[in-house]
Amino acid sequence: MAYTFEHLNSIKEILGRSPFGLITDVDGTISEIAPTPQQAEVSPRCRHYLSILSQHLALVAAVSGRPAEEIKNMLKIDRAVYIGNHGLERWAKGQSEFSKDTDGYPELIKAVIKELTPLLSIKGITLDDKGITATIHYRLSPNPEAAKRDILVTLESSTQAKRLRIMHGKMSINLLPPVEVNKGTAVLDLMREYSLQGGIYLGDDLTDVDAFKAIHSVSSDSSFQGVAIGITSQEMMKGLVAEADFTLNGVNDVVRFLRWMSETALKLS
Ligand SMILES: [Mg+2]
Repeated sequence: MAYTFEHLNSIKEILGRSPFGLITDVDGTISEIAPTPQQAEVSPRCRHYLSILSQHLALVAAVSGRPAEEIKNMLKIDRAVYIGNHGLERWAKGQSEFSKDTDGYPELIKAVIKELTPLLSIKGITLDDKGITATIHYRLSPNPEAAKRDILVTLESSTQAKRLRIMHGKMSINLLPPVEVNKGTAVLDLMREYSLQGGIYLGDDLTDVDAFKAIHSVSSDSSFQGVAIGITSQEMMKGLVAEADFTLNGVNDVVRFLRWMSETALKLS
């Protein structure tokens, strides 16, 4: 595992490229994982460095499974771009836009949530309707493995849920429209839109691996150079570190890295 702070010289070289983009996940990356999503927050220090970076880089974007407006309310940075619902939603010009090909899915999500309500009788399971996707959380369960099994059995018997894509996350299961959109395609769209020549992606979860792969696929066959940084934790997901170029140890380490980045970007600009 290559620790980011031992490779700052090579990261600095990439940071000198222009236009440059910083794309980051939210939960577990720039905000500590909280017992419930509503309790999570981005610290003022972290927002301060991201705000500086948004003024000096071509792009600062936050990509998350949360609804886009929720991410915007957590970061409160005007110049940042907010991509929500795993790439299916974007906050732009004061309102949210869903990806094309997702017509009718908000209604299906509502129907699925209704069908899954019996799960709420199991201690520690919560259902989150996020408009175009849904998330079943089992972080608060006294027996997370048993809760996960119960969720999967219930999903198996739900006729409506069969029409959705299942994606596993940290102590959660996501239900999404079966369209080819993920954090990886969101990253590719941003790279094209901002003509990025350099970029850093920060993420801590399996859903971020698609973004890591996107960074690497573009780095290998274009003038773009980017690095994928995996945020390690006790709940580290297999597969994440294998795809990462470098690692950081938790949210505090990310904030320390953002401070280094903002100081370095200031010197370079
Ligand atoms: Mg995360």
